[in-house]
Amino acid sequence: MGNIESIFGSMVFSDTVMRSLLPHDTYEKLQKTIQEGRDLDRGVADVVANAMKDWAISKGATHFTHWFQPLTDITAEKHDAFLTPTGPCSIVMEFSGKELIKGEPDASSFPSGGLRATFEARGYTAWDPTSYAFIKDNTLCIPTAFYSYTGSVLDKKTPLLRSVEALNRETLRVLRLFGHKNVRRVYATVGPEQEYFLIDRAVYERRPDLKYTGRTLFGARPTKGQEMDDQYFGALKTRISAFMRELDEELWKLGVFARTEHNEAAPAQHELAPVFTNVNVATDHNQLTMEMMKKVAVKHGLVCLLHEKPFAGVNGSGKHNNWSLSTDTGMNLFEPGKSPAENMQFLLFLAAMMHAVDEHQDLLRISAASAGNDHRLGASEAPPAIVSMFLGDELTAVVEAITHKEIYQAEKPYLEMGLPALPRIRRDTTDRNRTSPFAFTGNKFEFRMLGSSFSIADANTVLNTAVADALRDFADELELADDLTLRLGKLIRREFRAHKRILFNGNNYAPEWVEEAEKRGLCNYRSSVDAIVHLTDVKNVELFTRHGVFTGEELASRREIMFENYAKVIHIEALTMLDMVRREILPAVIAYTDRLMKAALRKRELGVSGNFETKLTEKLSALTDRIAETADGLEHASASAQACSGNEEKARRHREAVIPAMHELRAACDEAELLVARDVWPYPSYGEMLFSVM
Ligand code: ADP
Ligand code: MG
Repeated sequence: MGNIESIFGSMVFSDTVMRSLLPHDTYEKLQKTIQEGRDLDRGVADVVANAMKDWAISKGATHFTHWFQPLTDITAEKHDAFLTPTGPCSIVMEFSGKELIKGEPDASSFPSGGLRATFEARGYTAWDPTSYAFIKDNTLCIPTAFYSYTGSVLDKKTPLLRSVEALNRETLRVLRLFGHKNVRRVYATVGPEQEYFLIDRAVYERRPDLKYTGRTLFGARPTKGQEMDDQYFGALKTRISAFMRELDEELWKLGVFARTEHNEAAPAQHELAPVFTNVNVATDHNQLTMEMMKKVAVKHGLVCLLHEKPFAGVNGSGKHNNWSLSTDTGMNLFEPGKSPAENMQFLLFLAAMMHAVDEHQDLLRISAASAGNDHRLGASEAPPAIVSMFLGDELTAVVEAITHKEIYQAEKPYLEMGLPALPRIRRDTTDRNRTSPFAFTGNKFEFRMLGSSFSIADANTVLNTAVADALRDFADELELADDLTLRLGKLIRREFRAHKRILFNGNNYAPEWVEEAEKRGLCNYRSSVDAIVHLTDVKNVELFTRHGVFTGEELASRREIMFENYAKVIHIEALTMLDMVRREILPAVIAYTDRLMKAALRKRELGVSGNFETKLTEKLSALTDRIAETADGLEHASASAQACSGNEEKARRHREAVIPAMHELRAACDEAELLVARDVWPYPSYGEMLFSVM
């Protein structure tokens, strides 16, 4: 590996590259588009496209693609060569401004939730110049937004970009009130910590469940699990460290600030955390990170599992979305200030956050909803399905004091700010609360509910919009105030009082919290199905339409897609189970029973007892029947769930009837696994999967 500086961003059409390759006035115009959202004229686009193409070809690229993020949690691309024929046997390598700005992939096979009839297959992609183009697999990738012929949004990026605009607009209004005239742009910053598993590829290849569903649908507990806590931050195994080294290198080339890599709590589990960046780029980078993890793993004879719960009884994988607000002047708006005035500002933003999280608990929960993540949330290894906020002891005391009009610390200077209790707020030094789904960690908030395979776009769209909405209300009120300081004090106190119920510093895994949360009137949507229904509640439609993030129709279509995906995932799991049971597990159990019977018979011929063989034969025969019956039960449940009309009903039936049938079948099979000889069992065991990489 060369040094980091020389490879970092070498495959990115970055600001530095643009500055050096573009004519000065083109560069300036492009910057205006990027920073102020201005339209780009075709002449400029042509110049940029040509420079991009020459740069890409010099790096070995032969193709280009509009890289987009349909509603699938992964990215999509359709490659075109840079080739234009000039004669029967001659070409030039061309790439026009038109091709850069707009693409027209056939969109008929992407989920649209009814927004686009299949016969109206036209979909468009539009260049997003706020995320840099890059080269991957000899292809110039141009980050784009994806929408239908009628203008309906079909991707995750467009709403995210719209929420970024709303947040910028409303935050600037508030900052003006505090006299920050020089701030021109506000960004949400995000650093997503990514968890994943790595297992040996040869072992993976022998598990149809992992191949088709991303998780193990069978498997008895191994004799050793994670009880020794000997994996967390443990020394890296040779193959893992080679993998991480190459992954870092690939990500660095793409300009991803991959920084922290370590082992996680479960055996074979690891984590990567990048340095934070603006939310749009962070979203693209997280997609690239997941993609590279998979690709690099294969080169090392490994497979990267991004499923939320690949192994039952072993910690699952999540994604921690660290979120904060920064200005173009370098101010972090969630950094507690040093002076009383700065603290006022901090407290106002804190109030906005409490308001946003409390009012929109349901949306945050929905942004973490999926069939895969249902295995984690509330399963005492991940946050519960109840959204609450951790502020730490000190900051909570501040909030309490303000709500009670007390003086937090007898520090008089703050009195003149009109708030009797305005303390000097220090960064929290208390222990961080690992069980909280939404924790303040010094100068940012860590939203911990996301599943490892998720795009971070949805959660951040919710966060940005919800905070923008709170700030909008605040700005409306404060802009009219005669005495701003007085009004601020009142507003902060009122908001703290109204939303204090969302604060919880205790153990989120404790059963008492569930009761307490219910008393406080907090939402507790245990399953994704229970959560998703609320996406189109009036409150939510109003929120998103008010800020131009989603239309009511777009939200309704997203709701349909979420239900549809949920049902599909479980349907595929059920079919995979049935296939494995009937064609491999049952035959294996029967074969082994036969072996036992033969042994018993031989023994009897020789006058030896053969008691054990006979008993085990009986046990396995009973188990064989149970497996066959529960398989039939699953098949039945699955068929009737599939027959439901309407996506919501279908999802609910899968949750309520298919999943329990899957549990029953698994339990019977896992019992058999522990009774049958290793050599006849068709699948690698949990032990082999979790402990085979050296
Ligand atoms: P921990 O595991 O203790 O939560 P890590 O260092 O693994 O801490 O991850 C913290 C993440 O938070 C990193 O991705 C980091 O870049 C990110 N982060 C730090 N400051 C900010 C900020 N102001 N805005 C967004 N993310 C941030
Ligand atoms: Mg973390």
